[in-house]
Amino acid sequence: MKALEIIAEQQGGTPPSRENAGPDVASAQSPAVPAETPAADDRYSRQRLFPGIGDAGQQRLRASHVALVGCGATGAASSGLLARAGVGTLIIIDRDFVEPSNLQRQMLFTEEDAREALPKAEAARRRLAAINAEVTVHAHIADLVPANIHTLLQGADLVLDATDNFETRYLLNDYAVETGTPWIYAAAIGSYAATMNIIPGPSEYQTACLACIFPEPPGGTVETCDTAGILNTAVNLAAALQSTEAIKLLTGQPQAMRRTLFSTDLWTGEHSEVNAGKPRASCAVCGRREFRHLRGEGRPHITMCGRNSVQIHEHNRPVDFAELADRLRPLGDVRWNSMMLRFAYNNYTLTVFADGRTVVQGTAEVPRARALYARFIGS
Ligand SMILES: [Zn+2]
Repeated sequence: MKALEIIAEQQGGTPPSRENAGPDVASAQSPAVPAETPAADDRYSRQRLFPGIGDAGQQRLRASHVALVGCGATGAASSGLLARAGVGTLIIIDRDFVEPSNLQRQMLFTEEDAREALPKAEAARRRLAAINAEVTVHAHIADLVPANIHTLLQGADLVLDATDNFETRYLLNDYAVETGTPWIYAAAIGSYAATMNIIPGPSEYQTACLACIFPEPPGGTVETCDTAGILNTAVNLAAALQSTEAIKLLTGQPQAMRRTLFSTDLWTGEHSEVNAGKPRASCAVCGRREFRHLRGEGRPHITMCGRNSVQIHEHNRPVDFAELADRLRPLGDVRWNSMMLRFAYNNYTLTVFADGRTVVQGTAEVPRARALYARFIGS
């Protein structure tokens, strides 16, 4: 598994550049002054003043280990909030790269990240290191699937859902119930935001799981940000609600957590709450412990991602980028680094990741995408 991922760590080091060293004018004017991380006393002083956290809560945050599944808008906001709040260890898992259309709402990323088409996990790791060097960040450029979920989420006290699809959420729900790991659902589309805490048993605070409320993933096509649009305020509200619930749990206050599926529309002002306080006895997942999604049943090998691209993730095999680049160079423009290879051919762009997963941009037709994959990457 390790060969398929890039695991990058940042631990208590110096910020990567002088520009990120800190807000004080003095150090900007005198380069001889070494970059320092702000003293912990001062850094968290306003948060420790808040009665719900205090010194004890701050220490618990520092000892906490949170995984974020996805690092789009929700993941960028929640990881940024938790890093600033002093959560000690973050695991960030994302399969995508930064594009210009992300910048409207994905708060950790910059125009430079989009120009370089940096993988989001890596771009996030770099920015979080600049925000708080005390936080350890493990960045995984990977698709969370049944084969790697136990490895990637190992050690996490809490998992935050920051994904954009129900396939991954049901997989995560299975994992959470199987291992007794709490997770927090968050979703946003248009001007709508929703969130729900899932605390599996055995716990006196056990809630319903995702499958208690919605036994099956939604069928048919689901609206996405690419089809319905999104307000940056809606997704950042979802992240703020999610991160607040996370902080309650991590500071040992599960009794303070919301026990409903909460949703709100920022544009119309409507909001609703559905009781999720008790598990449903007949639930297949938390009642009968049937982990269909964890077993990988019914997983598509090909998914649509966005308006005009297809993702092929059936080839879980390491790719030699140098060899592939040599092979493709006579046919079109090739750019690659240790994390990904991008190949432009006519009106198509193929982005290949180290585990063989490929996003074909320029077509919404699966057979066309398959053909391009077979032709250039190999089947
Ligand atoms: Zn359930």
